[in-house]
Amino acid sequence: MAQEFPTQARVVIVGGGIIGCSVAYHLTKLGWTDVVLLEQGQLSGGTTWHAAGLVGQLRSHANMTSLIKYSTQLYSELEAETGLATGWKNCGSLSVARSADRMTVLKRTAASARAQGVDIEVISAKEAQDLWPVMAIDDLAGAVWLPGDGKANPTDLTQSLAKGARNRGARVIERVRVTGIKTKDGRATGVSTDKGNIAAEIVVNCAGQWARKVGAMCGVTVPLHSAEHMYIVTGKIEGVHPDLPVMRDPDGYIYFKEEVGGLVMGGFEPEAKPWGMKGIPDDFEFALLPDDWDQFEILMQNALVRVPQLETSEVKKFYNGPESFTADNNFILGEAPELKNFFVGAGFNSMGIASAGGAGRALAEWIVNGAATMDLWPVDIRRFAGFNNNPRWLHDRVKETLGLHYAMPWPNRELDTARPFRRSALYDRLAAKGASFGSKMGWERANWFAGPGEKPEIEYSFGKQNWHEAVKREMKATREAAGIFDQTSFAKIMVQGRDAATVLNRICAADIDAEIGRSIYTGLLNERGGYESDLTVMRLGRDKFLLVTGSAQAVHDADWIAKNIPEDAHVTLTDVTSSYSVLALMGPRSRDILAKLTSADLSNAGFPFATIREIDVGYATAYANRMTYVGELGWELIVPTEFTVGVYEALHEAGRDLGLADCGYYALEALRIEKGFRAWSRELTPDITPYEAGLAFAVSMDKPGGFIGKDALVAAKIKGKLTRRIVQFTLDDAAPMLWGGELILRDGKPVGEVRSASYGHTLGRSVALGLLHSEAGVDKDFIESGRFEIDLAGERHTATAHLKAPYDPKSERVKADSTELREAA
Ligand SMILES: Cc1cc2nc3c(=O)[nH]c(=O)nc-3n(C[C@H](O)[C@H](O)[C@H](O)COP(=O)(O)OP(=O)(O)OC[C@H]3O[C@@H](n4cnc5c(N)ncnc54)[C@H](O)[C@@H]3O)c2cc1C
Repeated sequence: MAQEFPTQARVVIVGGGIIGCSVAYHLTKLGWTDVVLLEQGQLSGGTTWHAAGLVGQLRSHANMTSLIKYSTQLYSELEAETGLATGWKNCGSLSVARSADRMTVLKRTAASARAQGVDIEVISAKEAQDLWPVMAIDDLAGAVWLPGDGKANPTDLTQSLAKGARNRGARVIERVRVTGIKTKDGRATGVSTDKGNIAAEIVVNCAGQWARKVGAMCGVTVPLHSAEHMYIVTGKIEGVHPDLPVMRDPDGYIYFKEEVGGLVMGGFEPEAKPWGMKGIPDDFEFALLPDDWDQFEILMQNALVRVPQLETSEVKKFYNGPESFTADNNFILGEAPELKNFFVGAGFNSMGIASAGGAGRALAEWIVNGAATMDLWPVDIRRFAGFNNNPRWLHDRVKETLGLHYAMPWPNRELDTARPFRRSALYDRLAAKGASFGSKMGWERANWFAGPGEKPEIEYSFGKQNWHEAVKREMKATREAAGIFDQTSFAKIMVQGRDAATVLNRICAADIDAEIGRSIYTGLLNERGGYESDLTVMRLGRDKFLLVTGSAQAVHDADWIAKNIPEDAHVTLTDVTSSYSVLALMGPRSRDILAKLTSADLSNAGFPFATIREIDVGYATAYANRMTYVGELGWELIVPTEFTVGVYEALHEAGRDLGLADCGYYALEALRIEKGFRAWSRELTPDITPYEAGLAFAVSMDKPGGFIGKDALVAAKIKGKLTRRIVQFTLDDAAPMLWGGELILRDGKPVGEVRSASYGHTLGRSVALGLLHSEAGVDKDFIESGRFEIDLAGERHTATAHLKAPYDPKSERVKADSTELREAA
């Protein structure tokens, strides 16, 4: 008997592709069985059905790798649970290198993958050929072999996941189109469909390339854009057998897998072809786009180099299917900041089959627990803002992001397309001075300044790059005279209202209920005691606080704070990022420079560390915050946007004879790592507590009313032993460059990874902040008695671990400044 159309459910999932089905599967596994999944056509008929089905575990972020590692485990076990085959074949995969640089990438990845428990071997080109006999290897430098990788049948997998969900009570209904999202008081409350309405506590948008449109139904930003994505299937080829591993040749932009004795060959061309500019047709079901051999040409040419037999083999089928891509090539997961109880899992950048198991579980856990259960920042929906949804911008950007899968992942690689996007008031001036710009949260930011005869363009490599000397100059200026950094991209949030102090004090780990004019460095912790953010809270008035946080964190932090404001509290939150520029004046001469422009008392007594004052600067009136991110005397000038140019020019005028230099983000990064200052999303993550980060000084355990995360910290204190800890390292050899992501070994055994690294010119060597892990405990003795090495693409370099910042505090001035952040807090 046909079941009646439901009128209510605890969760409604929009979209029956592999992602929607995986979310339904995992929700029911977690015990939430009152789930309805709605698919406008048939399951998998959107993008999923024509995927090639490759499942590769290697990702640049440890947690992303662990999601896919879980996928491989799930796909291998699912048939036993549901009785429906998934086509999973654990055939392993090879990645080959055509150049020495690519080989460096593979070796670097191998070292960190191993540390994450992924089975991986660096092998020769000949060994690769033994595993994959149909390829030519004359031009190859080597390869890596991942025996745990595999491939699956996307449609079967989707059906199997749906069956698992159904078996536990979920309803999966095809041929129902969601036409609207019901909302009340800022929450999703259900969906309207062409078959009737369904009330729900939670709505999950897994609508694939339609997810942007479904988001728009309720004002939620889901910034993705489709691009054409292609592969061919050949007839039988001699030597191709069912157990042939998947093979990737990223320098040729191509991949191969076996299918019925022939090869599937597809790839990620450097310049993709966007699609669907006028919207995605609702009835695009089990549909393909026309063959485009011109677009495919670059892949075909490279494939002929790798598999010469393709010259004579038959092409049985050309698949050209659209897939949705995002601005940074990572998918979009989580609860929408614009609407409570509305979750998104979309924009899978041609990784949806590989990611579905892990991403589906992560999203289900997020829904059930009301918060993510691990650090998911690389894919967190809150890394994007409303402006990222601009269709022209997305169109221009996805031309590049598709190709990023196989592009050289240079350590500091910048994307080139759809720029400039957001510009500070100083952009033209900095450009005229030789700035080489990078992009963060869409902001154009000076990374470094080219000197006379130097080009402001990065020449990428894994060694010292062409800006090495420029950054040395900038660091020297900051340490010995003064540097001016345009940090306008900082996100700024104003929190105001009668209850602002009380509410913020519960959200912040430090005691921010301080006197007016104080600046307080604090973490925002989750219930696990991990960092949701770290930022500076400045008390501008009794009921007025300015929060300055990282450039990428504007939406994330505003959302975190807003979600933790009780409904009856008198508090408002306003993003004022665009209202103010931030000019950081840092260095021992900064006081002398600023003194020429202001009538304010800048002495230690008159303007102590960790205070903020409104002062006159030239013709402008601006906030001056005495804080440092580089370990020198300095002020962050928070300037109304229209006064930025005036203040900048006045500072240069005043600093001309005092050694003032324009400095960029590369210098800033190196200066802060030398000083051991932690950065959010690198050292400080939702999985790391202040104890593990070495920032217990910035937590007020005794303040009245407590704070979010306190219970977890109390429990950690009782436990006593720290099994993870952020530790600073310097390489003993002055030559090599560290970039971050490298494996750290203690007495020859892997114990952690480098989270941030730079060349510390003040120290004359590479300097890093690493996360160490040992179940036996990472205490002083562990750190002092071990022999540490850092693995650089297979070569091990001895390193010294430091419990105190290695930037030599010889002078009294440096000594005072290096301790003042801690003392003040
Ligand atoms: C050529 C090609 C090769 C690929 N190869 C691989 C690979 O080897 N490995 C890999 O990991 N990934 C691969 N992918 C990517 C993979 O296919 C996708 O990432 C994945 O299928 C996305 O799944 P999804 O569930 O998000 O989207 P979809 O499968 O598109 O599912 C979304 C569903 O939502 C439904 N829907 C939309 N709007 C509504 C509405 N209003 N009401 C109800 N239902 C709605 C749609 O009908 C659709 O079925 C490939 C993609 C392409 C194009």
